Amino acid sequence: MSKNQNIIYRRILLKISGEIFKGENEFGINISSLQKIASEIISIVNLGIQVGLVIGSGNLFRGTHLYELGLNRVVSDHIGILSTIINSLAMKDIISSDSCIKTCLMSAVPLNGICETYNHERAMHLLSKNVILIFAAGTGNPFFTTDSAACLRGIETKSDIILKGTKVNGIYSADPKKNSGAILYKTLTYKDVIEKELKVMDLSAFTLARDHLLPIRVFNINNTGSLYRIIMGYNEGTMITA
Ligand code: UDP
Repeated sequence: MSKNQNIIYRRILLKISGEIFKGENEFGINISSLQKIASEIISIVNLGIQVGLVIGSGNLFRGTHLYELGLNRVVSDHIGILSTIINSLAMKDIISSDSCIKTCLMSAVPLNGICETYNHERAMHLLSKNVILIFAAGTGNPFFTTDSAACLRGIETKSDIILKGTKVNGIYSADPKKNSGAILYKTLTYKDVIEKELKVMDLSAFTLARDHLLPIRVFNINNTGSLYRIIMGYNEGTMITA
């Protein structure tokens, strides 16, 4: 495995929004989108980077949406949680098709016969062996999001940074689709995000990262090579620190 002196992170927690998984489709899983993301991840694992992965489920079901449609909120979130497991299983399968890469899927809720249950000690051990760890089922509790799970697992695994892979290039001063004058911030502090009320992630996830001084970078994971460039120290997307 080749090491490069320009690599600036040792261990990362990559959060991927479910929206990325549907590609051009309205709903569900687009296999070519998954293959593209998998090759981006494999490119950095081959550099020796340890990768933890948390995947959302906006391409399938989100609890808040089902609740609005009339389902009980807790049941709605359980459906969201199960949807993150579906995405994680698909991602694991795609990454595992590269026989040189080892992966492990750990769910916050037990799913005997399908995947392992989250275990901190084992997760740390596998990460140190360069196994890609996919943390599924969010925090395992309703009323949370996968952003909270990403921050939680990022802190637990002593990751250097949360990389939030989205469909947009970073954090803007306004919605760039509605406001042509919107500017893309290159750097922000945690305080800036709170004061400007910028939408980075939900507040409980964000304050968890802030309280543990875990840097967050929001970037467009659909830009080919973006993950690699970030690992090599390029200022791509928006960086949030103290
Ligand atoms: N969810 C939950 N608890 C968690 C993580 C996720 O209840 O700890 C549910 C929640 O319903 C959420 C859905 O799973 O809407 C999918 O997660 P998220 O909305 O974060 O997905 P993303 O927007 O990143 O695709």
